[in-house]
Amino acid sequence: MTTPSHLERLNPEQRAAIETTEGPLLVLAGAGTGKTRVLTTRFAHILLSGHAKPWQILAVTFTNKAAREMRERISGLTGETTDGLWLGTFHALCARMLRRHAEYVGLTSSFLILDTDDQLRLLKQVAEPWRIDIKRWPLPGLLGVIQRWKDRGLTPDGVTPAEDSSYADGHARAIYGTYQARLRELNACDFGDLMLHVVDILRTRPDVLEQYHRLFRYILVDEYQDTNTVQYLWLRLLARREGMPSNICCVGDDDQSIYSWRGAEVENILRFEKDFPGARIVRLERNYRSTAQILGTAAGLIAHNDGRLGKTLRPGREDAQGEPVLIVSIWDSDAEAREVCRRIETMRRDGHALGEIAILVRAGFQTRAFEERLVQFGIPYRIIGGLRFYERAEIRDALAYMRVLVNPADDLAFERIINVPKRGVGTAALQKLHAQARTERNGLSSAVETLLTTAAFRGKSQEKLASLMQTFVKQRSVLGREGHVVAVSGLLEDSGYLEMWRNDNAPDAPGRLENLKELVRALADFGTLGEFLEHVSLVMEAEGAAEEDRVSVMTLHGAKGLEFDSVFLPGWEEGVFPSQRTLDEGGDKGLEEERRLAYVGITRARHRAVILHAASRRIYANWQESMPSRFLDELPDEYVEREGDTPTRRERQDYSGYFTDSIFSDSQNSTMAPLVAKKRRTAVHDELVSSAPQIEVGARVFHQKFGYGVVINADRGATEVVFEEAGTRRVMSSYLQTVTS
Ligand code: ATP
Ligand code: MG
Repeated sequence: MTTPSHLERLNPEQRAAIETTEGPLLVLAGAGTGKTRVLTTRFAHILLSGHAKPWQILAVTFTNKAAREMRERISGLTGETTDGLWLGTFHALCARMLRRHAEYVGLTSSFLILDTDDQLRLLKQVAEPWRIDIKRWPLPGLLGVIQRWKDRGLTPDGVTPAEDSSYADGHARAIYGTYQARLRELNACDFGDLMLHVVDILRTRPDVLEQYHRLFRYILVDEYQDTNTVQYLWLRLLARREGMPSNICCVGDDDQSIYSWRGAEVENILRFEKDFPGARIVRLERNYRSTAQILGTAAGLIAHNDGRLGKTLRPGREDAQGEPVLIVSIWDSDAEAREVCRRIETMRRDGHALGEIAILVRAGFQTRAFEERLVQFGIPYRIIGGLRFYERAEIRDALAYMRVLVNPADDLAFERIINVPKRGVGTAALQKLHAQARTERNGLSSAVETLLTTAAFRGKSQEKLASLMQTFVKQRSVLGREGHVVAVSGLLEDSGYLEMWRNDNAPDAPGRLENLKELVRALADFGTLGEFLEHVSLVMEAEGAAEEDRVSVMTLHGAKGLEFDSVFLPGWEEGVFPSQRTLDEGGDKGLEEERRLAYVGITRARHRAVILHAASRRIYANWQESMPSRFLDELPDEYVEREGDTPTRRERQDYSGYFTDSIFSDSQNSTMAPLVAKKRRTAVHDELVSSAPQIEVGARVFHQKFGYGVVINADRGATEVVFEEAGTRRVMSSYLQTVTS
């Protein structure tokens, strides 16, 4: 018998996973082994072999992008349109089901899905009677508690007193009940309800459940390791059919579980065999994506995690010998972005497609530096899974504050921030303001000043607006005296804007605060606030070119399941990756999740992976020395090549008796410098070098990379040196040795 064409070029294990259509099946396999390909082909195989009609297959992907890709692959394989398929993310699929059965949970099919702002406003009304001290228990935190319950599939009745949260003085459960009732009255639900309501319906309405049991003959789930409890319950309800086989096929990799902060339970993988007796487990071991070096590097790293299910991963590509994974040490974070762009530029000249290149960052704030360099180099890019830096809400708010600071008559900007944070300015007050502004012909800001003298605003908002106006006046004078970085920091602080995000317990709030910090950091690159704002409009303008071939910039979380020829992984420094939050929390659990994230990052690359770390990063206007990420030391030497001349963490730790972060971060105290450098210097230099506690202007110095030179400017952290061969350069004093000759 000949092999049907869609099953060609598959290995025996993959074929088994595709052709075993009946009964529960778990594909447990490492990155790039073809799990997603198995799912897609399985979908096509079920159709082509006549086992089911397209709409009788339920296929769950993790992102909308993955759903789109799967649609394309399926229509490519079957040649049919993919309309009407039950294929999408958990939330998209549940929204569709809920529209069909909304009446069972007290909604109509036209129910509204609330966004976070609406949710908070509603929660505030609902919580009123409990008189919660919202300073102590901010509402977003309460929303977070409710969301976690929903992730676990708990309705208000389902939350046992033992599971009640101490949040909001122990009233959280009661408020949750009222909140749900109120949503129902409004014919609305929130994002978490989409799953929760459907699970509720499937649990309580056997007739509905049966309808789906008959409909879905096959269930396919990608990225199974990242399902949370409510998603798991939903799958289990749909898959366990009385008297019929559970034709559920899940594919996953415990090493790529990176969403536990959103309630994902990797244990769902372990439970699979228990939940679905007779389940078959298929392991795929050949990786078809990456070179042997990339695989070896990733495998060496993830081996540092405990409690793994354990999988073998072998290179499966014939051309699998490639370049080593490159680890590049860079002096500072500015140079890092420049270095990446320089390399991309070279690759472009060598004929590489930009669409096959990705820059994967740990945190959203990191994209800013890359976006600006990419624009400067004229390299088209796209930000995936998020907004471009200057388009993000918190950045636009902050920019609006800056615009009002330099120009009180900037009404658009002023209107954006007048009630952010909330200052109790309602529609009526705004109308009054606009009317006044028209009379005065002098802008909103000035109209506020006038109306404040007439006590036109009610109670609190009168006070708050007065304080806002004073803040602007104060910071305008700071701007003249102490410069724009200080003034903007002061403005964002005194206006209550930063406080607003600090009090926000939504999962994305810390990221927003980091973005704001990064914004202030960027300010320091410019002489004046005016120059900076002009620069921003230029960067914003630069987009728009309709080029298809673009570099992808995204977070590691957003990159799951994707692949690129070349991947740049910047910012591998303690406090960036692993993140500061993980380090602050301590313990292995968070660290292991960060390590899995690093594993996901490396395994996105087909041919080339470049990891970068900078020896210093700018925090506000100051440079701060940073430690190379511990993950760098965990990469096996045989597969990596190290470039650049900042010491690795391992080298630094060889002197751990002397070495602490605080010593190292104080570059004036360079006790460590000669020690660190000692490992690298040659015998010729030995007698010339003396220990250098202080490097002074005029001193003759030796630098490992640039050779001999004379210090012309000695500053904390960075020292300017005229090198005999390399010319004038700014280097870090801790890497210089003074030379007596
Ligand atoms: P991840 O864990 O990152 O989601 P995955 O296990 O889902 O990875 P796929 O994305 O399905 O892996 O496959 C990785 C790459 O290998 C894809 O480009 C796919 O087309 C290719 N591939 C998969 N199986 C084979 C095969 N048998 N022969 C050749 N190429 C294959
Ligand atoms: Mg995949």
